[in-house]
Amino acid sequence: MPYAYDPQNIFARILRGEIPNKTVLETAHTLAFHDIQPQAPVHVLVIPKGAYVSYDHFASEASDAEIVDFNRAVAEVCRQTGVDLGADGQGFRAITNAGAHGVQEVPHYHLHILGGRMLGRMLA
Ligand code: 5GP
Repeated sequence: MPYAYDPQNIFARILRGEIPNKTVLETAHTLAFHDIQPQAPVHVLVIPKGAYVSYDHFASEASDAEIVDFNRAVAEVCRQTGVDLGADGQGFRAITNAGAHGVQEVPHYHLHILGGRMLGRMLA
């Protein structure tokens, strides 16, 4: 079954400029902005500009250019927020939720970048 993308989801509306956001970084194919309900001192959402529902959708159908752009943007967000390991940062967690079992709230692929404090140990 093909992936079904809802163009009215909240991140699609952010991408169209219908809802404001606190942008951290914008590139050709990627937008990064602060989560509206931060769970840590650093809580940034990184999203592709393309209409992808989930990580598996993005990873299977996005172009190489989109995938490279996205990953470079993630690294840049880590640098800009000071959590990257390349300088003095103390690290971060990158999480994506997908679908019902993954408890995904917004059906536009996004990676959460969390850091700025010691995070709890969790996998499920
Ligand atoms: P999910 O559960 O889908 O992985 O995470 C969705 C995230 O989007 C949540 O952390 C939630 O706080 C965030 N979020 C939901 N609506 C908005 C919004 O309008 N603006 C921003 N910046 N974040 C939002």
